[in-house]
Amino acid sequence: MPAYDDTNIFARILRGEIPNRTVLETEHTLAFHDIMPKAPVHVLLIPKGAYVSYDDFAANASDAEILDFTRAVARLTRELGVDLDKGQGYRAITNAGEHGVQEVPHFHLHILGGRNIGRMVEPA
Ligand code: 5GP
Repeated sequence: MPAYDDTNIFARILRGEIPNRTVLETEHTLAFHDIMPKAPVHVLLIPKGAYVSYDDFAANASDAEILDFTRAVARLTRELGVDLDKGQGYRAITNAGEHGVQEVPHFHLHILGGRNIGRMVEPA
């Protein structure tokens, strides 16, 4: 696992050095609008802890952090109106490392919706 780089843009957002449009904040988790939205709804959900990728988070976060993050997915999709009770769905994506084409090395889940997002990836 690469060392966590605390100069990354999401670490700076968490420290309050860069503004963000917050959608949801809990004890261990923050959700905010992506600065370059790829869909009518494009929100990033991040743990407040220093984790590089989903596998880093899954292996090393505390139970409380994982529970908080997972429950935040439910709250967030409901608040964004894309959940399957009242909305029309969404795609959750996380990119990791070079092959995942991860731009910001702080674990984040993209929640995309508000339109049909299309097929997941191009065929190999
Ligand atoms: P990745 O490619 O790492 O999965 O996605 C990083 C995401 O962060 C991109 O969708 C990009 O638009 C978003 N992003 C990059 N810099 C900022 C920023 O300063 N503020 C916000 N809100 N989003 C950012």
